[in-house]
Order: sequence, then C-alpha cells, then structure tokens
Amino acid sequence: MRRGLVVGNWKMNGSLEFIENWISQYTAFLETQTETAICPPYVYISFLRNRLMTSAIHMGVGAQDCSVHNDGAYTGEVAANMLADVGCSFVIVGHSERRQYHSESNEMVAMKAQKVLEAGLRPIVCVGETLEEREAGRTNEVVLAQLNAVLDVIGPEMLVTGALAYEPVWAIGTGKTAIPEEAQEVHKILRDSVKSRNSDAGDSLRIIYGGSVKPSNAQKLFACPDIDGGLIGGASLKAEDFYAIAQAA
Ligand code: PGA
Repeated sequence: MRRGLVVGNWKMNGSLEFIENWISQYTAFLETQTETAICPPYVYISFLRNRLMTSAIHMGVGAQDCSVHNDGAYTGEVAANMLADVGCSFVIVGHSERRQYHSESNEMVAMKAQKVLEAGLRPIVCVGETLEEREAGRTNEVVLAQLNAVLDVIGPEMLVTGALAYEPVWAIGTGKTAIPEEAQEVHKILRDSVKSRNSDAGDSLRIIYGGSVKPSNAQKLFACPDIDGGLIGGASLKAEDFYAIAQAA
C-alpha cells in the first residue's frame, strides 16, 4: 500500500504574516494519515520550518526548484545541499512553470533530480503536456519522454524516494481539472513505464496529480487506483482547503 502524499506549492506567494496566519489556521485541524509538505518561496523556508517545528503540525517543508550546480559563482541560484542544510525534505523539479518560463529541458530536470538526491533530499519530478500537445494526441509521448530523461539518470529506485507528479499544463491554475479517468489513464501509463524498468519500484512509486485540485474534486481524483495524492497550487494557500485535500488522499 502506498501512503498518500499531498504537497502544497505556494509558488511566488506568501509573506511572514501570511505564514503566521496559515499556521494558526492549520492548527485548528486534526492530524491526517496523509504525508504532507509545503514548498514556500526559498526565502521563507527556514521561517516556515521553524514555525512548524514549534507547532503541533507534522508537516515537511520543501523547495520549488534548485540549481543544477553545487556551490560556486552562480548568482541568484540555490544549491540542493543548501536546501538540505535548512531542513527541506523535498524539492520539486521540472515544474511546468520552470520548463516554460526558464527554458528547462528534460536533461536539466534530470540533472536537478540528481542534485536533489546527492543532497540526501527527495525529488518530486513533474511531468505534463500542454493543451496543444494533448489535442495533437501527443500526451503519452511527451510525458514519457519527460519521465524517461529523469529515469535514465537517477533510475527508478531513486525516484521512489520522492514522487512523480503528473500535472497537465492546461489544468494548472486554470480551474480546469483533468477528469479523474483522464488523469488515471496517464498515471497508469507512467506507472507501467516505471514498472517496465523495475516492477517493485513501479508498484511503490507515488504518483501524485496536480492541476486545479480543490476540496471539491480531490476525493474523486484520489480514489483512482494510480493517483496517490496531489501537488496543490492555489488551494494550498488556504490552510482549510489544504487540510481538506490532505484528508481526501
Ligand atoms: P494549481 O497549481 O493547483 O493552482 O492548478 C498546481 C501546480 O502548479 O503545482
């Protein structure tokens, strides 16, 4: 049995005050059986982690990206080992907003996943097709190419330490969610592909769904056999909604 995983991606949102309020609202809720983590902007990682550690909330902290480099002369970059140093457990790599706005290639995403693992952290590798690619019938080809580029570098056993996130680009922040059957179909294709390299790894890999997940649609998505939780953008900014989604996983 795979334990549910629900990760909040705050993207470029939040402030010290926002975090204080979020924590105090979340404290009103009971614990969930689901594993949870929040990925705030880099500058708030330490603050969020310290506030969580002094609260009753059992929740991990992660980052939304990392550098392909170790330390050195790379202005503006943050290395995976620095994220480990400040207590992150997860690092998201290959989010479609990074691929789209920062021209991250499949190879670069694979290198980042490798850096995350070298730092002793758990990668959350994102894959997903654009609307254009879906309409051209290229969904499977695109997501498998994204997945295989990473598997070729880190291997299926190491991906299992983190998670794979399927996020159709057309569903991110648009209010348009993939219907559970559509999402399940892609999750199964991804799992089968991992299984073809290593059957046990394919069985134990958590594949989470992202793209306009809300309390109202989470249950149906997470009920699908190959959907093990979610990567939550907009709805993770509300403590109550994030908790409701975690409860559904
Ligand atoms: P969304 O974002 O939930 O706001 O659609 C998901 C994501 O980009 O991770």
